[in-house]
Amino acid sequence: MRPVRVDPEEEAGKCVWCGFCEFVCPTYLAVRERAYGPRGRLRIILTAVDGDLTPTAFRAIETCLVCGACDEVCPVGINISSAIRAAKARIAAHI
Ligand code: SF4
Ligand code: SF4
Repeated sequence: MRPVRVDPEEEAGKCVWCGFCEFVCPTYLAVRERAYGPRGRLRIILTAVDGDLTPTAFRAIETCLVCGACDEVCPVGINISSAIRAAKARIAAHI
C-alpha cells in the first residue's frame, strides 16, 4: 500500500480503543505489551507533549515495522501505519 500523508494526532484522535488492531500486529504479538501495538502507539502519539517521549515510548514508536497490517482491520479506517510513519519522521527530524 502506498504511504498516505496524514496528521498523526488527527489520526490518533479517531481511535475508539477497541484493540482489534493488536491481534494482527507482529510486534504486539511478539511481546504482548500494549505500547508495542498499534493502539499503544496511537496513545503515545496523542499523549506525547511537544514530541517529548520517554525512552519506552521512543522505543515503541521506533520498533513499528510500518507493515500496514493494522490498517486493514481498523473499523474506523484510521491510517495507523501512516500516522506512525509520520511520528517516526518527526522524531528523526528532532534527534
Ligand atoms: S504498522 Fe506497526 S503498529 Fe501496525 S501492525 Fe505493523 S508493526 Fe504493528
Ligand atoms: S482497530 Fe482502530 S479504533 Fe480499534 S484500537 Fe486499533 S486503531 Fe483504534
